[in-house]
Amino acid sequence: MIKTTIFQKIINGEIPCEKLHEDEFCIAFNDIAAQAPVHFLVIPKKPIISLFECTKDDSDLLGHLLFIGSKIAKSKKLKDWRTVINTGEESGQTVFHLHIHFLSGRKMNWPPG
Ligand code: AMP
Repeated sequence: MIKTTIFQKIINGEIPCEKLHEDEFCIAFNDIAAQAPVHFLVIPKKPIISLFECTKDDSDLLGHLLFIGSKIAKSKKLKDWRTVINTGEESGQTVFHLHIHFLSGRKMNWPPG
């Protein structure tokens, strides 16, 4: 069972966020510490810790998260963006509730840090 994370509190409405989208399966909101002019997160309502814990049953949900994020990006008239999913502490994951970062509005570097 996933521990109560800050994102679970956002899903529960216990703490506020700058919400961009909500449906039955996910919520999208602006990152509180934006790393680019546009930086938002798409998270499933299902309490999944990370991609590591996903199963085949989550395939549609994962596609939905990407689709919704892209829809939001396009609604912001963006053409270029980077998506990031950190999986595990060493990758940089700090909130242990699956989330996809969407970053845009500046030139991105490669390789990522
Ligand atoms: P990660 O390091 O991949 O686990 O990303 C977690 C992200 O969540 C970071 O970019 C944080 O800035 C962001 N974050 C943490 N708390 C909040 C919050 N209350 N509202 C919005 N974003 C948050």
